[in-house]
Amino acid sequence: MADKVFPIADLRSALPAPPAPFTAAPNGLLSDRLGRPLRDLRISVTDRCNFRCGYCMPKEVFGRNYQFLPQQALLSFEETTRLARLFAAHGVRKLRLTGGEPLLRKNVETLVGMLAALRTADGEPMDLTLTTNASLLSRKAQALKDAGLQRVTVSLDAIDDAVFRRMNDVDFAVADVLAGIEAAQRVGLGPIKVNMVVRRGTNDHEILAMARHFRGTGVVLRFIEYMDVGSTNGWRMDHVLPSAEVLARIDAEHPLEPLAPSQPGETAERWRYRDGGGEIGLISSVTQAFCGDCNRARLSTEGKLFLCLFASRGHDLRALLRGGATDEALSAAIGGAWGARDDRYSELRAQLPADAAEPGFRKVEMHYIGG
Ligand code: SAM
Ligand code: SF4
Ligand code: SF4
Repeated sequence: MADKVFPIADLRSALPAPPAPFTAAPNGLLSDRLGRPLRDLRISVTDRCNFRCGYCMPKEVFGRNYQFLPQQALLSFEETTRLARLFAAHGVRKLRLTGGEPLLRKNVETLVGMLAALRTADGEPMDLTLTTNASLLSRKAQALKDAGLQRVTVSLDAIDDAVFRRMNDVDFAVADVLAGIEAAQRVGLGPIKVNMVVRRGTNDHEILAMARHFRGTGVVLRFIEYMDVGSTNGWRMDHVLPSAEVLARIDAEHPLEPLAPSQPGETAERWRYRDGGGEIGLISSVTQAFCGDCNRARLSTEGKLFLCLFASRGHDLRALLRGGATDEALSAAIGGAWGARDDRYSELRAQLPADAAEPGFRKVEMHYIGG
């Protein structure tokens, strides 16, 4: 079958970066129109991936003829680091590298080293993490650790090999992901989190098996509700298994009790096994929106700043960078964008029409903006 063609220029069209002035919280750091600070920056380092998870990059769309971004469109490591430093001055404390598959970006450990040298506004080391499908983790774990990466989050949607091979759609084996997790544990990239996207009817029968597998290992398994990101995955509400149901299924076999959030704006609700078997997380992006304290910004592979996972357009910071903008001008653009932010898509989802993107625009794709 021929690949569908998506008008990528529209998908990735840019908003101009807004001008200063911007609002600052009493501590001098940024605050958006709903009073939310900027703490977390997710950086997509490539739009490419070697998996074809149906909920993210379905093969029918992201086939052999799909046009990924050319190398020169990507932010260089120097450009990324310069922006990350300016974000840090605005209050960002946590950087997460993502993609696409971030370990496919050539010499990504060099970028990790450059980012690891940055400091927060109050002079602390940044929290530096990476989300990966683990296909290259066994090979890269030591170099990432040596470069200054602190932790990794690994995506794994099933412990049954056949189910997982079907879900990644490139016949990748569970054993190889588990080997990646072990390598990361061995070199000290922990505590490791494992993300499982739960899609009703596809892998919800794997919830208990995954819980059993990771109980007592020190790995924190997190269940993510399948989200309506992008426009290509054919999302339907009846494919979402509410986290409350995940909780009930696990609790029936292994009783759980709630834990307090470890930091404000945390996406996962934390629970622990009453018998001391460790901790799990529930990310209920669909059934229990957490926009109220959303402190996350996203920098796309080609340097556009997205203020919400469900935005249609990003602010073009690369144009400013490559147009010779000073640090002050870039910083004002970041501040202006964040100061004008009032996004809360998940809270409004229920009231929005089925395709809630701005007319003429599609919601941005997850592999491009980063999860
Ligand atoms: N390739 C890496 C990986 O899979 O870990 C990093 C990028 S991936 C886009 C980041 C995270 O987004 C993964 O944990 C993935 O499972 C999650 N994700 C992708 N599409 C999703 C969807 N439609 N709903 C919920 N989570 C999704
Ligand atoms: Fe690739 Fe991650 Fe998307 Fe799966 S979820 S297709 S591994 S980017
Ligand atoms: Fe943040 Fe947008 Fe997600 Fe709400 S929908 S939590 S504002 S990224």
